[in-house]
Amino acid sequence: MACRQFDLVADRLQIPDAERGRLKYPKRSLTVALPIHRDNGSIEVFAGYRVQHHLTLGPTKGGLRFHPDVTLGEVAALAMWMSWKCALTGLPYGGAKGGITCTPRNMSAGELQRLTRRYTQEMIPFIGPQVDVMAPDVGTNEQTMAWMMDTYSMHMGYTVPGIVTGKPVGLGGSLGRREATGRGVGYLINRAMDTVGLAPNGATAVIQGFGNVGSVTAYSLSRYGVKIIAVSDVNGGVFNNKGLDLHKLEQHIERTRTIAGFPEGEPVTNERLLITPCDILVPAALERQITQANAARVQCRILAEAANGPTTPEADAIIEQRPEIFVIPDILCNAGGVIVSYFEWVQDLQSFFWSETEVTDKLFRILESAFVQTLSLSRKQEISMRMAALSFGIKRVQEAKNVRGLFP
Ligand code: NAD
Repeated sequence: MACRQFDLVADRLQIPDAERGRLKYPKRSLTVALPIHRDNGSIEVFAGYRVQHHLTLGPTKGGLRFHPDVTLGEVAALAMWMSWKCALTGLPYGGAKGGITCTPRNMSAGELQRLTRRYTQEMIPFIGPQVDVMAPDVGTNEQTMAWMMDTYSMHMGYTVPGIVTGKPVGLGGSLGRREATGRGVGYLINRAMDTVGLAPNGATAVIQGFGNVGSVTAYSLSRYGVKIIAVSDVNGGVFNNKGLDLHKLEQHIERTRTIAGFPEGEPVTNERLLITPCDILVPAALERQITQANAARVQCRILAEAANGPTTPEADAIIEQRPEIFVIPDILCNAGGVIVSYFEWVQDLQSFFWSETEVTDKLFRILESAFVQTLSLSRKQEISMRMAALSFGIKRVQEAKNVRGLFP
C-alpha cells in the first residue's frame, strides 16, 4: 500500500526514476530474535523489527507496536508513512517504526518487561536521541517507554530521557503527549466540519478502536458537542443511537477490559460498525479496515483516518468517486502524536518543561497550518486530500535529498 501510494504521488510530481529508489527504500531494516523467560519457566523466542526509513532531515522517529500481526513489511510501510507525516508537518525527523510479533493481552507485566528490555538491548547500536527515537503505538504505552528508557540509560551509565517519547511525565514525558493524537484528531475533525458546513452540535460519530487514540478522540469530539453513537475494540462493539455515555463505558472497560457486553446499547460487529450511517467515521485501530468490499457502503460525511493506513488503495479509488465524503488522510489526521513527541524530545534535550496549555496551543498551530496547506493544494489542483498531503511530505524529503547531494 505504502509503495503504491508513493508511486502514484511520484508520477504526479514527475519525480525522475533515478531519485525514486532513494526516497522509497528504507535506510535500515533490522530483524532481531528476542528470547525471554516465560512465567512458567519456558523460554520463548519472539521476532522484533525496526525500520528507519530515511535520515536526511534528522534522527528517525516512530512508534513501537506489540501485536500478533506485526511483520517486517508492515513495519516498513509504517516507517515510510512516518517520513511523509513528519515532512508534512515540518518536523526535523525521518520516519521509523518498530514492532514485536506477540500478543500482549496474553502476557504478564513481567513477561512484557523482559521482552521490552531485551528488544531495547538489541537495538542499542542503532538508536539514540540523535539517531532514532521510539514512542508508543498499538499494544505499547507509557510503561513500555519507561522500561526502554531505563534499559538504555543503564547501558549508557546516565539518564537519557530523550531516547523515547510518550514516557511518564515524572520521567521527562511531556504534558499532553498521551492525549495528543486523539486531541489532534478531534481538532482536525472540527476543522473539517467547518469546511463541509456540518454543525458539531448533534453530529454523530462512529469510532473503531477504543485504545489511546480512539478513546481520546471520543472525549475530544464529545466536548465539541458531537454524539458518539458507536465504538468498538478487538472483541466487538456497541451501538446506541441516542449517544453513548463515555464515562459509564470507561467504567465498564475498567471492570471487564473490553467494550463487548456494555449494557447501554446494542452489540455491533466491527464489519457492521464501519458501514453504520453517521456524520463522522473514525477508524482508530489497524490498517486495511476500509477495503474494496465495504468502501461503497461506508455512510459518512467525514472519514477521519486516526489509524495508520486504514483505507486500502482500492477503497481509496472508490471513495474518491464519492465527493460527498471529506477524507482527513492518516498522515495528517493522526500527526498530533508525533508533533507532541517532537515537543517532548525538545523539552528533554533542553531540560526545560512546558505547561499543557503551551503544548496544546503549539500542537493546534502546527495542525492548523498543515490542514490549511493540504486543503488549499487539494482544491487548487483538484486532487484528493491524501494526494495533497503525501505530495507535500514526499516533495520536502526529495528537495532535502537533492540539496544535500549524494555521498560520497
Ligand atoms: P491501542 O493499542 O491503544 O488501541 C488499539 C485499539 O484498537 C484497541 O481498542 C484494540 O482493541 C483495537 N483493535 C485492535 N485490533 C482491532 C480489530 N481487528 N478491530 C477493531 N479494533 C481493534 O493503540 P493506539 O495507540 O490507540 O493506536 C491506534 C491506531 O492509531 C494505530 O493505527 C496507530 O498506529 C495509530 N497511531 C497511534 C498514535 C499514538 O500516539 N498512540 C499516533 C499516531 C497513530
